[in-house]
Amino acid sequence: MSEEKVDTAVSNTELPPVIAGGTDHLTGLNGLAGRAIQAAMVARATDPGFARRRENWQLWQQRTAIARQVAVAFDTPVAAIVVIDDPDRRYGLSGQCPGTLVVLTDPVAGKEWRFIPSSSAPLTAWCLLQECPQCAGVVPVADVASFADLGDYLDRPDPVLRPFEFNGDPAHHYDCPNGTTRQ
Ligand SMILES: [Zn+2]
Repeated sequence: MSEEKVDTAVSNTELPPVIAGGTDHLTGLNGLAGRAIQAAMVARATDPGFARRRENWQLWQQRTAIARQVAVAFDTPVAAIVVIDDPDRRYGLSGQCPGTLVVLTDPVAGKEWRFIPSSSAPLTAWCLLQECPQCAGVVPVADVASFADLGDYLDRPDPVLRPFEFNGDPAHHYDCPNGTTRQ
């Protein structure tokens, strides 16, 4: 009998130190206060926009709402989710407005998952970002509105059901055949 292989590369990724469970040893406070301070510590460490959130309070509110929706949809503590400017996708007439990137760090496995809002339902559905099979760019590979959608894709990925956003995504390598929407 051979020993089962453990994927340490995945479990050792940059997980914020504590997301669920006791925080007393870090904050000296119990209960909700301790957990809130822990959430602030994680946000300061992982979200570059957290310190400047009052400069655009409306955007911050929208992002916290997205984080709560993602937390419910993917059965994950809200403190495990940060919503930040998308470094790869920009919108608007002159491409000046950064898109929204949702980064979920699984508190159990430590693996990081990335999502962008779906263009068809930006407030209620997301596209999972994973490597393009042709160029390895991290691009939208599946529409996921629910936990079951995510599981269905991971269990039985179907390239035919790529989201609208797959073709032409700017994160494809410049010579990737999927990097253009033209046929
Ligand atoms: Zn590609």
